[in-house]
Amino acid sequence: MTTPAIEPEVASADKPSTKRAIDLRSDTVTQPTPEMRRAMAEAEVGDDVYREDPTVNRLEQRAAQIFEKEAALFVPTGTMGNQISIRVHTHHGQEIICEERAHFINLESATVAAFSGCQPRPIYAEDGILRWEQIKKKIAPPAYYRAQTGLIALENTGSLAGGTVYPQSVADEICDGAHDAGLPVHLDGARIFNAATALGTSVAQIARKFDSVMFCLSKGLAAPVGSMVLGSKKFIEKALVFRKALGGGMRQSGILAAAGLIALEKMPARLKEDHDNARLLAEGLAQIPGIKIDAKKVASNILVFDVTGTGMNTTEFSRKLAEKSVLAGGIDAQQMRFVTHLDISRADCLKTLEVVRTICGSERS
Ligand SMILES: *Cc1c(COP(=O)(O)O)cnc(C)c1O
Repeated sequence: MTTPAIEPEVASADKPSTKRAIDLRSDTVTQPTPEMRRAMAEAEVGDDVYREDPTVNRLEQRAAQIFEKEAALFVPTGTMGNQISIRVHTHHGQEIICEERAHFINLESATVAAFSGCQPRPIYAEDGILRWEQIKKKIAPPAYYRAQTGLIALENTGSLAGGTVYPQSVADEICDGAHDAGLPVHLDGARIFNAATALGTSVAQIARKFDSVMFCLSKGLAAPVGSMVLGSKKFIEKALVFRKALGGGMRQSGILAAAGLIALEKMPARLKEDHDNARLLAEGLAQIPGIKIDAKKVASNILVFDVTGTGMNTTEFSRKLAEKSVLAGGIDAQQMRFVTHLDISRADCLKTLEVVRTICGSERS
């Protein structure tokens, strides 16, 4: 894999002045719903560093309940949630086994090194889905000169891998194997509700064997700000210390948690619509000469497709899209990424396909 030309979660495509742009860069661009804005205005608040914000406390209790974990912690970003979890699980000088496209090693600066003092041990896996057989071979032998494995971290859905979803049995086998080897497993579940929707299961079921889970309220669930970390009571007590150390101790953050509660309770039910739209886009793109995508592999709200056959690289392709008010970015020079979300309708997807056909010079295909 090459370095992403445009980092997907970092908006860098040209923003046209028109409000009618179809923004497929990420589900992070979703706007809070009117109901969220009202709840924010009316939220009952307190000082959360004193743990006295009733709305934050309610959000943490509800998340713990839904995920069937002992405790939860509200954090400003998914990045902070991942990095706090890693810091709790590891010691300086250790290694973390992950897939090579993992968000936490590609798009979160070098925080694993800077904050936890660890190095990643990345493995390539087809569609970003690791198997226990691969991981097992990368666990460091107990030689004093080898960095010892401290953690295994999975991502579900796989953001840079095209929104792929771990089959439950594959993730369970990894967790069981890791635990037998005495290792904890963290789940970067930024889009775990998309994974649950794709599998037709609950987030609790997906999260059951993981020692810690992070998920984002601010992506497909449309909250303006916020992510959650979940785990045992002991894990969350330690996470609270590192949240403060990273500057994530907020005061009347119930204002944000109020939107988060609506995101958590109401938004998961509509994610299937985003998945249907992603599939519609994928099937349409598969028909366009020069574009390579296996539509059957599109399982959630993210699609990654190769534009090499169009004679354009992703920078040129993105620029041509932007000229026609469609915003998207590449994950490298060859592969574009589209993400569907609350603010993308079926009509927007049909319009996007028309734009892609035009820029590829195959309007009548
Ligand atoms: C977005 C994302 C994160 C980080 O969330 P931020 O709130 O943008 O810091 C972590 N992991 C994955 C897989 C993501 O998609």
